[in-house]
Formats: sequence, C-alpha cells, structure tokens
Amino acid sequence: MTTAIEETSREIIHDAIIKQKQFFKEGSTKTLDMRKQTLQKLADIISKHEKEIIVALKQDLNKSEMESYTTEIGFLLEEIRFTLKHIDDWAAPVKVKTAKTHVGSKAYKVPEPYGTTLIIAPWNYPFQLALAPVIGAIAAGNTVVIKPSELTPNTSNLIKRIFDSHFNPEYLAVIEGGVETTQHLLEQPFDYIFFTGSVPVGKVIMEAAAKQLIPVTLELGGKSPCIVDDTANIPLAAKRIAFGKVTNAGQTCVAPDYLFVHESVKERFIKEFQKAVRDFYGKNPLANDSYGKIVNERHFNRLTAYLEDGEILTGGRVDHASLKIEPTLMVPKDASVPVMQDEIFGPIFPVLGYDDLNEVIDFINDRPKPLALYLFTSDDGVADKVNGSISYGGGCVNDTLMHLATPYLPFGGVGESGIGSYHGESSFTAFSHYKSILKQTTKFDVSFKYPNSKLGLKII
Ligand code: NAD
Repeated sequence: MTTAIEETSREIIHDAIIKQKQFFKEGSTKTLDMRKQTLQKLADIISKHEKEIIVALKQDLNKSEMESYTTEIGFLLEEIRFTLKHIDDWAAPVKVKTAKTHVGSKAYKVPEPYGTTLIIAPWNYPFQLALAPVIGAIAAGNTVVIKPSELTPNTSNLIKRIFDSHFNPEYLAVIEGGVETTQHLLEQPFDYIFFTGSVPVGKVIMEAAAKQLIPVTLELGGKSPCIVDDTANIPLAAKRIAFGKVTNAGQTCVAPDYLFVHESVKERFIKEFQKAVRDFYGKNPLANDSYGKIVNERHFNRLTAYLEDGEILTGGRVDHASLKIEPTLMVPKDASVPVMQDEIFGPIFPVLGYDDLNEVIDFINDRPKPLALYLFTSDDGVADKVNGSISYGGGCVNDTLMHLATPYLPFGGVGESGIGSYHGESSFTAFSHYKSILKQTTKFDVSFKYPNSKLGLKII
C-alpha cells in the first residue's frame, strides 16, 4: 500500500513552472505533429499501464475492473481517439465574414494555446478526471502541470510515475500534494487553470486566479435532482437511476442526488429500485466485491450521519471495516436536514413524493443551479416544460450519467455548479484563446476613416 502523499515545496513548484514557461516559448508544443504524437503516446501509455491503473483504483476506491475500464481508462482512450480524428479541423484558422465597412479585408479566428496550464483534480474518478483535461490542453498546444488528488494516493503515485518516466516535465509534469501544494501552485504565473472539485474549493481557486487575472474553468458539484413522473417506464427508470446512484458508490459529481417521484408511482418505483440493486449486487451489496467503497473514514462518517435524517425505506446497512454503505432509499424529515442541504456524494438517496410538477420546478429553482438534472417521462410536453423552466449544467431525459459519456456534448455546470465546459471539441476550445485577426488589403485605402478627409476610396 502507498503511504500518504507528501506536500511539494514552493521552490520545486516555482522551478517547474519557470522551466515549463521557457519550454513553451521554444514553440514545439504548438506544432500539430508534436500535439498528435503526444496524444498518441498518452493513449499507448494508458493501454500499457492498464493493469496497474486498475490495481490503483481498486486500492483507492474498490472499483471493479469493469467500472475502472468503462469510466476511467476506456473513457480516456475514446477521448484521445476522437481528438486525434478532429484535431486538424479544430486547430485550423476559421475564416469569418467582414462588415461592409471593412471592404477588401479578410478576417480569421485563430486558436492559440494559452501557454502553461494547471489542472487540479478530485479523488472520485482520480485517473480520468486528472487526465481528461490534459487531452484538451495538449491538443490545443499547451504545457501542463497536473495536481492529482491526495485522497487517492495510489492513483496519484501512479500518475506521477507514469508521467515522470514517459514525458519531459518541462512539457507535462505531475506535482503531488494536498491543500498546501495547491496553494503554492496557485501563486505561480500560470496562463490557465482548470479545476475539478467542490464548490467551496472552486471559490478558493477563482479568488486566487483573480489576483493574477488567470482565466479558469471550474468543474464543480452540488445537488443534482432526479424527477420521475407518472408516465415514465418505471422499471427502466428505476434501473437507470440505480445505475447512476450506485456507480462508484454514488461518488460521482453527476450522480442523482435526490428524487422527486410522482405519488401515484412512488411505491412501484421503490420496489423496482430495490430489484435493480439486487440484480446488480445481490442481496447483500456490502459483501459484493464489485461494489465500491467510500473513499475514506471522514467521508464514511459524514455519509452514515445522513442516515439519521429521515426514515430508511430500503438498504441502510453499513460496514465500517470495509467503508461500504448499502444503496439506501430514505424519506428525509424535511428539506432542512443535512441530507437535503449538502451534496450527498454517496449511495444514499432521499425520495420525495409529489403531485404538482410546478412545485417540483419551484423547489429546484429556489436552490443553486444543478450540475445535472434527470427527468423520466414519456410526455414530451413535460420534458419541454422542465427543460424550459430550470437552468442546469446538463443532463438526460430517461437516463442518468450518459450525457457526459459522449464527446459530442460539452460537459460543465452553470452558476454554482461551474464555469465553462469540456469533453470533445469543448476541451480544445477550453484550452485555446481565439485570436481575432483582420488582414487588410493594401490595394486601396478607405479614406473617410482619417481625420479631416473626404469620403471615398484611394487606389494605391
Ligand atoms: P475538493 O474540492 O475537496 O478537492 C479538489 C482538489 O482541490 C484536490 O486536488 C485538493 O487537493 C484541492 N484542494 C482541496 N482543498 C483545497 C484548498 N482549501 N485550497 C486549495 N486546494 C484545495 O473536491 P474533492 O472532494 O476531491 O471532490 C469532490 C467534489 O468534486 C464534489 O463536490 C464533486 O461534485 C466535485 N466533482 C465535480 C466534477 C465535475 O466534473 N463537475 C467531477 C468530479 C467531482
């Protein structure tokens, strides 16, 4: 087992960033050949180290091999494949129209890398969330410093070892550590910061970035609601919602956080949810080796305290030794209890019955804008109404999580759930500045723009 991650000193960090800045100035990271070769090399390295990645994720989060492949390794390989397929188009200057006042000129939007970028990752998908933004940063031509999460030390160590042995740290570096290291990093003159993590730390990052006017992407969290109406296919809805809630033991930024279910289908939904969990993990999920564990004791204690916030409907068993909590449906005492106030980030699922959809919409709109929203209905009118009246980052109608697994959709939050987005082309644009260039003709000159001139064109 790996020991705890140590902090990295301010001097080492400063030195690493200065070297990256120098390397970026030399220009090689901007060439398309270098970007493509590096992306291909990253894919090859991920494939080569697949077994070690699976072992590290098992140690840190008890992720099953299948879950590690689909949500971490396979996800990254697909992002790289998609990026390599489209990078020539994305990196090309985009010609745009010019106004009549600009007769004779041509205009372009030219993507250019920001320079030296910082990527700060959380612990819940510790390999994927550290590397997915790196793909966009490389594709756009930047150098990168990656700061993995200290709470998943085996994965953090592995990322460090892989990058140190395969890449020049002046181009791609990994700096390990926790809060102190991140604070040192935030003092450095980065050109862009990409942060994935909690809302409170997102505010710390943005405040630090503001001191140097460093642009940021903030991929944050919060409470993502789920709604099941009376026209929904209940067995399918229950299965898909259970999948979204039990994947990584609910430690997913876009996991359904709480449920509004129409009173007329509530009992049926609860039975079908129970059945789905049994189908996935058997009668005792705590004894199933494929079921994830809670990342550490602090989070385990935080989560088990929520079990006091209402009446348990199904599940509720916990195992302190293995840090596992059974998928649990509960009815919260009211909306003021912690389980209805905090982002749950675990396999506990509060259920609220409803009769009037308008009240559900008001409830959600009275709270911070969610990162995700999931609606289960067969009625397109209901889908239009919900999507037209609630602002949220992204989500699904009749599914959970899957909107983030397609490179064709940008992924990100809005309001408290985040700023900016990535995945697919959005990762490229997130790490690019679009320079506006007007190329003026020298064949003639429009004279009226000059002081004290007569209207007209002057042929040169
Ligand atoms: P976190 O905010 O505690 O930590 C994220 C990173 O910030 C870590 O690398 C950590 O070392 C660093 N950090 C922590 N405290 C800091 C401080 N005071 N100053 C500077 N740096 C600090 O988040 P977490 O617990 O690792 O992850 C869970 C959160 O992340 C949840 O809220 C979840 O919703 C969110 N999340 C969002 C996404 C997304 O894509 N939107 C994905 C995964 C997780």
